[in-house]
Amino acid sequence: MSGRDPVVVAGAGPTGLMCALALGKQGIPVILCEAEPALTVDLRAGSFHPPTLEMMAPYGITQRMHETGIPVRHWQIRDRTGEFIAEFDLGLLADVTAYPYRLHLEQHRLTPIQLDILRRDTRVDVRFSHRVTGFAQHADGVTVTVDANGKPQTIAASWLIGADGGRSIVRKLLGVGFEGFTWPENFLVVSTPHDLGEYGYPYMAYVSDPLEWAAVFRMPHDGPPGIWRLAFPVAETMSEDEALGEESVERRMQGFLPRPGRWQIIYKSIYRVHQRVADTFRIGHVLLGGDAAHLNNPLGGMGLNGGLHDVLSLAPRLAAVWHGRKGEAELDGYSRQRRAVTVEQVQEMSIRNKRTLEEADPAVQRERLTQLIHVARNPELARRHVYASSMLLGLERAKQIG
Ligand SMILES: Cc1cc2nc3c(=O)[nH]c(=O)nc-3n(C[C@H](O)[C@H](O)[C@H](O)COP(=O)(O)OP(=O)(O)OC[C@H]3O[C@@H](n4cnc5c(N)ncnc54)[C@H](O)[C@@H]3O)c2cc1C
Repeated sequence: MSGRDPVVVAGAGPTGLMCALALGKQGIPVILCEAEPALTVDLRAGSFHPPTLEMMAPYGITQRMHETGIPVRHWQIRDRTGEFIAEFDLGLLADVTAYPYRLHLEQHRLTPIQLDILRRDTRVDVRFSHRVTGFAQHADGVTVTVDANGKPQTIAASWLIGADGGRSIVRKLLGVGFEGFTWPENFLVVSTPHDLGEYGYPYMAYVSDPLEWAAVFRMPHDGPPGIWRLAFPVAETMSEDEALGEESVERRMQGFLPRPGRWQIIYKSIYRVHQRVADTFRIGHVLLGGDAAHLNNPLGGMGLNGGLHDVLSLAPRLAAVWHGRKGEAELDGYSRQRRAVTVEQVQEMSIRNKRTLEEADPAVQRERLTQLIHVARNPELARRHVYASSMLLGLERAKQIG
């Protein structure tokens, strides 16, 4: 039994930090290796679903997130004109969750909270500038090789968890397939301090448009009044420099919402977006979680939420195995359960969300929005809709898989 060696977690993104914290709290020695010299400032995720807030609450993370996060109870799927607006109320979930809203908080404001609590409440050994470069599995564990500030190092580990993001070296070295596809267009994300509420936007809206869909979010930034984040599609033929050019972004914003002055832009970045799931989340003593295991487009805000669900499901299972209370088959359960939920729920819903927004036929677009308005206005159908889109249905499904 290799239970006495530490668990190595590769990657101190939000998934790796959550994993290390959850394992550390179970009394397991953990070494968390992060390639970069410090936490990265990542503008990607920014919306947290009710069950994720529930799951992080026992660690004290959720309370800290509320100090700056913005609770968003109502969200819309709509067209640009405002003629078709389906507004959903997460308050319909008040009977099943203490957090009947989404919480908006930038990913790079979550990770310092996680690290702070990790350092306060556990003995996890956090090593920045430690890039995992390889591993060799043996019967009882795994020898992990690391580039530690430019010097090669080996660590004897009982288990290695790849939480090293979409380009995961751990997944690649495992040789696990990463089936799926890459969307032809890129996603342009821009942030502005101008108040989109003045244009009738709620704190969260998905805007369907046959020519150019958009997603709109109010984010906390440095504190009230916060900023507004928008995401648009960009043709893959357009170079990154061109898409991010000042005039091009200004044209984009004026095209979306014309205003007399120029749009002030605080951040802008561009992302390539994929729909991919690893063939398995476990081989031997190596496990995958978060973006290392799956990627999806951000419409619906499910990528990181799913990654956190992964490791919060994995940690008690691995703790039981590490302490010798259960056999290794427990970890196949993790792979089976989380992979099924990812494929059936997250992949399916995020692809459907994108197709709905980008519908090119105006008649079909109006028909879809009309249907959604009908759903939103019927409390029973609306509840079912928000139960699924808040990832509660996926977690219910996970329990059935066991
Ligand atoms: C535009 C956009 C918006 C999004 N919005 C949302 C949202 O609202 N809600 C949501 O749930 N999801 C959202 N996502 C998805 C979300 O950003 C990702 O799912 C999330 O960042 C995954 O976290 P992670 O910790 O698994 O990986 P990452 O955040 O990529 O972290 C991986 C970490 O591993 C480190 N690393 C890499 N290689 C190594 C190595 N060899 N050794 C050691 N360390 C290594 C990296 O430096 C990094 O710190 C969005 C994505 C995009 C593109």
